[in-house]
Amino acid sequence: MIKKSESKKIEITQKGNPILRKTLSELPAEEIRSEHIRQTIAQMSEALYQSSNGIGIAAPQIGISLPIFLVSEEALAHDDGTPHDHTKDRWRWRHFVYINPKLIKSSQKKVLLDEGCLSVEGMFGKVLRARQVTVEALNEQGKKFRVGASGLFAQVLQHEIDHLNGILFTDKAKILEKLPSLTDAEQQNSPKK
Ligand code: ZN
Repeated sequence: MIKKSESKKIEITQKGNPILRKTLSELPAEEIRSEHIRQTIAQMSEALYQSSNGIGIAAPQIGISLPIFLVSEEALAHDDGTPHDHTKDRWRWRHFVYINPKLIKSSQKKVLLDEGCLSVEGMFGKVLRARQVTVEALNEQGKKFRVGASGLFAQVLQHEIDHLNGILFTDKAKILEKLPSLTDAEQQNSPKK
């Protein structure tokens, strides 16, 4: 269990940093259960909990060039239509770990979806994504699994796989929208660590 008060703020790499532009090669299977990988996953999980609205995160987003991403179980909760309070609930979501992920299948059917990224603060866009995908990956024990996804979950999987290939949603967005920036007063009031 993560104790929120004791955790240090993990910095999220922002667009413009070359680490977000690398194409990452596969992690050798024998390294997956190493302490370094265990710690990387723990840090990614912590960063996701710290973010105000993140549901997925890739290792380069915390400055680590490894082909790993995490998706919050919350992405599934959105899909089944269960109403929930994001802020109140976020500590109970588990995170699914994907190592060496491969996109096995993408549906012909594409949908234009709203998208944002922890590494592109203040921007949203409309991105064309496959409605359904099948992804194969290894979990944190190094065990291979395959998952079929649709809806928000499929969108997050495609977004995170893009991260491991150095692609940001802003490269693909049909329409980009800038959110109004915070006023000085609002910035004063936002917590700084
Ligand atoms: Zn992202």
